[in-house]
Amino acid sequence: METPNREPLLRELKNYLIHLKDLGYTEIPCEAELLSNSASPNLSLSPNIMAANKSLTAVQKELGDCTRCKLSETRKNIVFGSGNPKADLVFVGEGPGADEDEQGLPFVGRAGKKLTEIIEKGMGLNREKDTYICNIVKCRPPGNRDPEAEEISACNPFLIQQLQAIKPKVIVALGKPASSTLLGRTVPITKERGTWHEYAGIKLMLTLHPSYLIRFYTLENRKAVHEDMKKVLKELKK
Ligand code: URA
Repeated sequence: METPNREPLLRELKNYLIHLKDLGYTEIPCEAELLSNSASPNLSLSPNIMAANKSLTAVQKELGDCTRCKLSETRKNIVFGSGNPKADLVFVGEGPGADEDEQGLPFVGRAGKKLTEIIEKGMGLNREKDTYICNIVKCRPPGNRDPEAEEISACNPFLIQQLQAIKPKVIVALGKPASSTLLGRTVPITKERGTWHEYAGIKLMLTLHPSYLIRFYTLENRKAVHEDMKKVLKELKK
């Protein structure tokens, strides 16, 4: 019989136990029926979006000098997020790159310049005052590889709590990994961009990632993001 790889499972379990501890649990009931197949729904692995609210500062404090996944071994700085903690608009990207890792701030490299241009020139907003920007993972994946499922799930409780703390009117998911994480399914982003969804009662717009836009700088892609942001502005004005 093949030996299952227990490491990811154990890591996920450890992360979940840390998350429960962070939520204030001091013990776990361990009765026979909990160990049977009909496990208590309270022990579901998906964090509850309606859980108690914390300020962004409290969420950052809880994150601390995080070692919940292996990205902590290679990062220079945790990139928590930046902008207005009371913004109506939140952009969620994929994960820090080299510049972000160096500075501890999201979207400060080439993709960041493009995002700032979209926000300021395209939408007529002020990046710092009108938006908050964060990522699905807060530490740089080495060599800018895609974040792994385990890394995304270790960071997800913090993304959820950030969004809960800010309570924006609109969230914009930048690219496929952010869209897929927020919707909990694989999103074909070029097909689904420009469409509205809901995330815990908040309007969610999917659009192309600024890095994709830089790489495939076509009129069609620029028009697409422009159209998506027009929809977001219209929603913000409601
Ligand atoms: N790309 C992202 O997805 N996030 C950043 O912070 C920078 C580049």
